[in-house]
Amino acid sequence: MNTDILKEKILQLKKEKNAVILAHYYQEEAIQEIADYVGDSLGLSQEAVNVDADIILFAGVHFMAETAKILNPNKKVILPDLKAGCSLADSCPPDLFKTFKEEHPNHIVITYVNCSAEIKALSDIVCTSSNALKIVNSVPKETLIIFAPDKNLGKYIMEQTGREMVLWDGSCIVHEAFSIEKLLDLCKLHPDAEIIAHPESETHILRTAKYIGSTAGMINYVKESSSNKFIVATEAGILYKMQQQVPHKILIPAPSHEDNTCACSECAFMKMNTLQKVYDCLLNESPEIKVPLEIQEKALLPINRMLELS
Ligand code: SF4
Repeated sequence: MNTDILKEKILQLKKEKNAVILAHYYQEEAIQEIADYVGDSLGLSQEAVNVDADIILFAGVHFMAETAKILNPNKKVILPDLKAGCSLADSCPPDLFKTFKEEHPNHIVITYVNCSAEIKALSDIVCTSSNALKIVNSVPKETLIIFAPDKNLGKYIMEQTGREMVLWDGSCIVHEAFSIEKLLDLCKLHPDAEIIAHPESETHILRTAKYIGSTAGMINYVKESSSNKFIVATEAGILYKMQQQVPHKILIPAPSHEDNTCACSECAFMKMNTLQKVYDCLLNESPEIKVPLEIQEKALLPINRMLELS
């Protein structure tokens, strides 16, 4: 089926089934085009609370759809490809994390939203890259903190807040794929470009950045900055929405170590969702995301604490 016909059919099905499509900025352009809402993890979590539909099709990765299910236990949440996981979430297995937590008694647990429902259920507060600094700063100074699963975001928060935290040793393969050598070469070619980066990137990449923030924060920054050229260090899917907001500005994806055709970083998990899979998923209302009730109830508390603080 060609792309336009597929899009038409998806929009029709969406109406018939009273469904809503929430898509992450890292999804392919065609999916972003037919989505009701496109955003980052925080925006999507907030949107998931307000959804007035029977079905939520989540065009993103598994932990995001799980979060939507936890926030909407009575709605059907479907994900186009169940294999759309996340290397960062996978780097924090619940049994190992439980032991880690026991080794650090008297610590509260703050987890980045990129983790499984089981890890959220072991947490006190969830955060996203948009609100991580605010959440950590909201915790009394004398309270000891475990931060998981992203060590790069954890290090960045420690630098910014001056707080010591115990970090879980996890990371995202996409944000660790940026090559500092290629980035510096690119800067020589474009001396007028500003580097902007997502805090999941490694410290040496963050040190080169003029602005560090969440995907939504980066989009706002390029809109408001007087610069006309940016090198963008996060998943390349963000460029679609960003370019729509600043059609007259030049956006260059930060280069990765890999010599891939576009030389930029793409999340293979996010790109598992395709327009065809979105259509099949909506048609069959499957694969459906299910979270055991006990986990769902425990995971809801730290997510709600985050939403209250945001
Ligand atoms: S970009 Fe990284 S953190 Fe985001 S979904 Fe992909 S693997 Fe996970």
